[in-house]
Amino acid sequence: MEIGLSLGSNIGDRAANMSTARDAIASLEGVRLVAQSSLYETAPVGVKEEYMHMSFLNAVVIIESETAAGPLLYLLSGIEADLGRERGEDRYAPRPIDIDILYAGNECIDSGGLTVPHPRWAERRFVVEPLAEIRPDLIIPGSSRSAREILASLNDRSGVQALAVNW
Ligand code: ADP
Ligand code: MG
Repeated sequence: MEIGLSLGSNIGDRAANMSTARDAIASLEGVRLVAQSSLYETAPVGVKEEYMHMSFLNAVVIIESETAAGPLLYLLSGIEADLGRERGEDRYAPRPIDIDILYAGNECIDSGGLTVPHPRWAERRFVVEPLAEIRPDLIIPGSSRSAREILASLNDRSGVQALAVNW
């Protein structure tokens, strides 16, 4: 099953965190890396004032996975922990890596603390822009529009900038 992941980092060596997480995802058993977007530098969305100066790197990674979304999320949280992520009270605190499941084939899941497709992906330019880069024609369940069409309808172009770096 094709699964789309959103990666984000806003503390430490952000580019190294992104590459390390991508490599760890690709090494999971039953997982094959299919595509990765460019890295994007993005302004924080929804964080506390004190963290507003800490911009993110974001990207979308697409995998082919024999592991279903539920058990995969567990493995992904292990990668987050390996990279030093601590979960505290503030869910928007700076993080070396955040890995979210955007979609898992055509599945719709809402159980056990997992919601797929991710409920806010279509509002977030830092998700939609990298996704549209690599899967412009993808229509994620719950939407009638492709990633490219959703990107075109997001009016604010600011805050998300593709970087010309390999990762
Ligand atoms: P956020 O990703 O919103 O910045 P967290 O990474 O701390 O915050 O995630 C909060 C919770 O969201 C996690 O405990 C996770 O179990 C849950 N969750 C629900 N749906 C998803 C999903 N599609 N991808 C990743 N996490 C999810
Ligand atoms: Mg998360």
